[in-house]
Amino acid sequence: MGTREGWQLPATEALRVGPDTDVDGLDTTATPGFVGGKSVGERLLEERGAVLSDLQEKLFANARARDEQRSVLLVLQGMDTAGKGGVVRHVIGHVDPQGVDHASFGVPTPEEKRHHYLWRIRKALPRKGQLGVFDRSHYEDVLVVRVHDLVPRSEWEARYDEINAFEHELVESGTTLVKVAMFVSPDEQKARLAERLERRDKHWKYNPGDITEREFWPQYKEAYQAMLDRTSTPHAPWHVVPADRKWYSRLAVTELLIGALQRLDLDWPAANFDVEAEKRRLAGS
Ligand code: ADP
Repeated sequence: MGTREGWQLPATEALRVGPDTDVDGLDTTATPGFVGGKSVGERLLEERGAVLSDLQEKLFANARARDEQRSVLLVLQGMDTAGKGGVVRHVIGHVDPQGVDHASFGVPTPEEKRHHYLWRIRKALPRKGQLGVFDRSHYEDVLVVRVHDLVPRSEWEARYDEINAFEHELVESGTTLVKVAMFVSPDEQKARLAERLERRDKHWKYNPGDITEREFWPQYKEAYQAMLDRTSTPHAPWHVVPADRKWYSRLAVTELLIGALQRLDLDWPAANFDVEAEKRRLAGS
């Protein structure tokens, strides 16, 4: 790795939504805060994956040993093919599965439709000490729902404030939210969909409806912009991750999670037994 290669800025600073964040003008091939290419990025991902794993284990250990109430929840949003599944596999894949509470949210089931839209979300929240992952989330209720007017405008309009209040409540109860919006360009999406059609092992991921949704790209951009403008709060800020380069988006999410876990300032829980006495007992056993 060259002397100037690597993160020049902490990922949370480089990616955090600000007043100037512009979804329309976003360069989805950029690597904000990071200098270096794919080989450097991939090598670093392995190293940082191990750091993430260690931090997650501390979170888990503290919940077990000290009845610590904290948890971390990664919220992933992005258009089809943005790479949410890749993040789950290649970032969260570094972590002990016992410590992960994963949930994905598709079209609501008939039962889910009978409830408030946050009902299924509340049921899937991470348990204390867990790293939660939402592959899509309550934000679908202001994205796809807004784009297709699945409920009246007055109803989805009210959801931004409702979501902010909901997340505030979550943070107050000890959950750190790491919200990540992943963006690919229409051309990159086209290439990824083409790959799904070319490869027999990717056909299962292909959904003919994804092509239809491509026609709504401008409306989605508008909906994403509104989401970032209205639900990036001091207690639960959004991060915008350019995702045309998979190695970068995975590395960026790894760093965002590491940053969030480090800010919890966790240590290994102290033994609640006499270590020296136990060593003597073991030797004599
Ligand atoms: P993926 O495409 O991520 O692999 P699924 O095919 O199971 O997963 O479901 C994703 C689809 O569900 C997306 O098209 C998404 O817009 C839709 N969806 C998610 N939440 C909602 C919702 N609340 N209302 C309507 N559609 C939703």
